[in-house]
Amino acid sequence: MAPEPLRVLLLGGTGEALALGQALEQEPGIAAVYSVAGVTRRPRLPRLPVRRGGFGGVAGLAGYLRQHGVHCLVDATHPFAAGISANAAAAARQTGTTLLAVRRPAWQPGPDEQWHRVADMAAAAQALGPQPGRVLLTIGNQEVPAFCAAPHHHYWIRCLEPPERVPPGARILFQRGPFHYADECRLLREHGIDTLVTKNAGGAATRSKLDAARDCGVRIVMVERPPDPPEAEVATEVEQALAWLRRRRPAAADPRLG
Ligand code: NAP
Repeated sequence: MAPEPLRVLLLGGTGEALALGQALEQEPGIAAVYSVAGVTRRPRLPRLPVRRGGFGGVAGLAGYLRQHGVHCLVDATHPFAAGISANAAAAARQTGTTLLAVRRPAWQPGPDEQWHRVADMAAAAQALGPQPGRVLLTIGNQEVPAFCAAPHHHYWIRCLEPPERVPPGARILFQRGPFHYADECRLLREHGIDTLVTKNAGGAATRSKLDAARDCGVRIVMVERPPDPPEAEVATEVEQALAWLRRRRPAAADPRLG
């Protein structure tokens, strides 16, 4: 009889989740399902069984974990997706499911960089100040409405999906990373940007905007991350997460022991 595989629910929505999902496509002894929120029209997906849309809060996620006999829940959502991460921690606790959070390290300012660090979008909008500025927002689409409270600035908004509400006159740039240093410098100079607002997402794919802002004399307003749920074990790299899962694979399903 074939040994029972390690059943994994992988909460996606990031490059790390995609890479881990792709690594699990061929992984013996591990049966993973990849879950996306369903908010991006054309998400990049691994060749794994995929489920889309919310679970219906903690109770819905806990029900899914029980119904599908999930052994390991891997939260590889974006560091700013605090709602699903809190739900994952609570549902794992309720059901006794092992939880791993995959979080790329936050960016740190270089020795020649000065960031204006803020806790949330309302504080970021306020940090722009009273003088009209030329502001590039690279914060996704969901929290753009916070900047309607500071309508005296000129905004360029880079995102994948249209925001619900934008400040008057804002221009939308529909662009997907990775972004390269030279293109980022060109963008900042072309529009005479004086302030960049970004979330501290971490990762290499979008780091070049910080280098470009520093070299073009553009002020950086950095929105810091919400805290991670304390109960999760954390992997900062995909390889580390994969090794963590392999260690939990039932011995009988481990090809090295066959
Ligand atoms: P959120 O506020 O933490 O989550 C809102 C709700 O969306 C959750 O309560 C859950 O609904 C559902 N959800 C979120 N991620 C899910 C997943 N992987 N599978 C199934 N349902 C999910 O999250 P968000 O900030 O809106 O982000 C939504 C998705 O976009 C996440 O998967 C995240 O990784 C990705 N993303 C977010 C950002 C960001 O800056 N926030 C950036 C890039 C990508 P129920 O309560 O009904 O289960």
